[in-house]
Amino acid sequence: MELRILGSHNMESHGTRFETHLIDGILALDAGGLTRSLTFEEQENIQAIILTHPHFDLIRDLLPFGLTMRDSGVTVDVYGIKDTLDLVAEKLMEGSLYPPFLEFPSPETPIYSMQEIEPLKDFQVLDYTVKAVPVPYAVPAVGFMISSDDVSVFYTGDAGRGVSDAWQHAAPDVVLTEVTFRNRGEQTAIDSVHMTPAYLRKDVVRIQTAKRVSAQNDCRTHKPSYKEEIRVEVKHLAEADMMMSLP
Ligand SMILES: [Zn+2]
Repeated sequence: MELRILGSHNMESHGTRFETHLIDGILALDAGGLTRSLTFEEQENIQAIILTHPHFDLIRDLLPFGLTMRDSGVTVDVYGIKDTLDLVAEKLMEGSLYPPFLEFPSPETPIYSMQEIEPLKDFQVLDYTVKAVPVPYAVPAVGFMISSDDVSVFYTGDAGRGVSDAWQHAAPDVVLTEVTFRNRGEQTAIDSVHMTPAYLRKDVVRIQTAKRVSAQNDCRTHKPSYKEEIRVEVKHLAEADMMMSLP
């Protein structure tokens, strides 16, 4: 399995992009920063998109990507829980911002086909076995366990403290997760239901008791000052026997 991090931030600038990750060039995890890191040819290889929740920084590029696919004759499956798909359909796909991609260019072969999924039940996406697991967050949200023949990845999406409850339902080889706030921003993290390095340690270490994991830390910083401080705090976790890397 090849994992490409296309974007991992919730604010954009010259050096930061909204969140999206790409598996084997064909399966996108969220769609905030889907188009701007890829050539048109690379975009046209994408066959399915999985959405964790419908915040703008995770869904925005469904619109430009839809236009990329206009002449492809391909329908891309978009997977998510009902709350997510309903909001995307209502706010992004109803035709006032861009073409109504759920029935465009034709109702028979639209750009997107919504696939509602039920948490905690395995389903098949391309050659991957996928399971949605609810995670603590400010809106209904799920993380995804994605398994291929050789490896399994758990992508938490946005999540706050207590994400370790997901380990009852998933035992991945790799955790792809977030840290939005610094340790000294704990109250803000609690209020907005995001992670700090300290929470990351508690939640990811729990899974390490059962299984050795590599944690790809997804540093969703607001500003460079946050990023550098978080980087230092996460590096301390690495010294505490976690295999950790920052994009
Ligand atoms: Zn969010």
